[in-house]
Amino acid sequence: MRVAALLFALASTFAVQASDPLSPGALDTAADLRERALADDTGYRIIESLTTTIGPRLPGSEADARAVAWAQAKFESLGFDRVWTEPVTFPKWERRSERAAVVGAHAQPLVVTALGGSPGGTVEGEIVRFATFAELEAAPAGMVAGKIVFVDFAMERTRDGSGYDAAGPVRGRGPSVAASKGAVGFLMRSLSTSRNRVANTGITRFAEGVTPIPAAATSLPDAEQLVRLLARGPVRVRLELDCGWNGEYTSHNVIGELTGREAPDEIVVIASHLDSWDHGTGAVDDASGVGITMAAGRLIAQLPQRPRRSLRVIAFANEEQGLLGARQYAQRHAGTMAQHVIGAESDFGSGRIYAFNTSARDGTHALSRQIAGALAPLGIEFQPEQGGPGPDIIPLAQAGMPWAWLGQDGSAYFDLHHNADDTLDKVDADDVKHNVAAYAVFAWLAAEAAADFRTPAPAE
Ligand SMILES: [Zn+2]
Repeated sequence: MRVAALLFALASTFAVQASDPLSPGALDTAADLRERALADDTGYRIIESLTTTIGPRLPGSEADARAVAWAQAKFESLGFDRVWTEPVTFPKWERRSERAAVVGAHAQPLVVTALGGSPGGTVEGEIVRFATFAELEAAPAGMVAGKIVFVDFAMERTRDGSGYDAAGPVRGRGPSVAASKGAVGFLMRSLSTSRNRVANTGITRFAEGVTPIPAAATSLPDAEQLVRLLARGPVRVRLELDCGWNGEYTSHNVIGELTGREAPDEIVVIASHLDSWDHGTGAVDDASGVGITMAAGRLIAQLPQRPRRSLRVIAFANEEQGLLGARQYAQRHAGTMAQHVIGAESDFGSGRIYAFNTSARDGTHALSRQIAGALAPLGIEFQPEQGGPGPDIIPLAQAGMPWAWLGQDGSAYFDLHHNADDTLDKVDADDVKHNVAAYAVFAWLAAEAAADFRTPAPAE
């Protein structure tokens, strides 16, 4: 058995070679981290604590401040060497109430939620249906002036989230385009895969010079009800939103660091975001990422020695309204961005990780390949052509930091994303352990490696 296993290891793509950036000892430690993670429920307990004691964490809300204090205390209790906060200032958007109804012969209430960034106001008008954003964009202004635009785009369920990407700018720019054509309101079928009667919020933005109009999303069953009513004749809808921008707020990114033993100025980042939308408790978006990355950091903190480089676990402020914490981190740390050797963010729920890649995008890159080898026992495949940086990693990657992708199964993510069903009961404790194992292995090896991700390995 032993000889066979050894021969198999030598023949394997992932066998250690003398020139490889990771030593057999580092890989042994990774295997140990992986096994400890799979037997440890710290990640789930962190998610339970955040979603239970803080609840929804709308940026700028009273809970935002409590979440920052919670994260700081949590990092301290988990054994990080250095814990600190960095201010993040942004305009504050508030949701107070939201209501909608079909009026007239078929009068009935509709389930809606205001989109983040929507102004308040009460509007009533006939709805005009568009199947896609492109159709709305192509429509003559006369078709929608004085009416409520209804974009009825049906997003597809996919494992990698490409169904959401394909929805494109329906939510982000739809209201602005509708307003620019003279519509009085905007209603969209939620970007959701849930059959439940819940509506999904999310940020929208009005272009310079466009007067904002009330903008909301309705649930899938409500959107389909509207389509059936439209088949019978014109439909009038009344939309009553009380929400809007209200001054500025300063929140904080919260950072826990393990200080590197040899190259403390070189930094590996694993990240999540602390804020959430306000209907659920932000369990999959993104308390899961907070729990996964904090628990991975804690496992590394418990090793007998620190990795060569520093590991920063960052809980970013206000991702939901435009990556604001990450953008301000990239500005503040512009002078040391070249020492940020790689970063990854967990912001796609708690589904298991099935694929790994880095910005090297090269199947022969020695360090990526070795890390992929250490992740393979978790059922994670090296996919050198796939993936990209998590949302909060984008501003850092734009400033030059390499990224890693730990691709999670998001098949069920859009049943919950930004709606009232995003609660703790949807989080599977064993899936969280699997994610923690992958993040611990990745972060340890990236922080311990002799090479970094900028220099491609010589071709074999
Ligand atoms: Zn998120």
